[in-house]
Amino acid sequence: MTVRNSKFQINTRGFTDIIDITQKVKNEAYRHNIKDAIVHVYVAGSTASITAIEYEPGLLKDFPDVLNKIVPMEEEYHHDDTWHDGNGYAHIRAAMIGNSFSVPLVDGALQLGTWQQIVLVDFDNKPRCRTITVQVLD
Ligand code: ZN
Repeated sequence: MTVRNSKFQINTRGFTDIIDITQKVKNEAYRHNIKDAIVHVYVAGSTASITAIEYEPGLLKDFPDVLNKIVPMEEEYHHDDTWHDGNGYAHIRAAMIGNSFSVPLVDGALQLGTWQQIVLVDFDNKPRCRTITVQVLD
C-alpha cells in the first residue's frame, strides 16, 4: 500500500462555521492519477469536524440549529472549570461528529453523491486556522 499525504489550510469564523472543502479534496485526490484508492480527510483539533452534507442554504441553517438543541452553546459545561475557555459545547459537538471522513476513489472518480459535499465544521467560539490532512491510500 502506498500512502500519499498532503495538507491545506482553511480560515474559519468559528461558531459552527460550515465550509465546503469538496473541490480542495478532489484536487488532492486526482493529482496523483490513481484509479482506485481510499481518500481519507482529517482535521486536527478537538473543536472541529469533517463530515458530509448537502451544501445548500436550508441545511446550513438546520444543521447548526439541531446541534444547538442537542448540545446548546448557552449550557454550562464542566470543561469550563478546567480551562475557562467557554467552548465546552464545541468539544462535545466535535467528538460526536468526528474528525475524519473517508470516500472511495473508484475508476478515478470520488464516489460522492451529487448532493453530497465534504465539509469542515468549526465549532470553536473564535475564528481559527485549520489544517486539513488528505491521505490517498492505494
Ligand atoms: Zn476548550
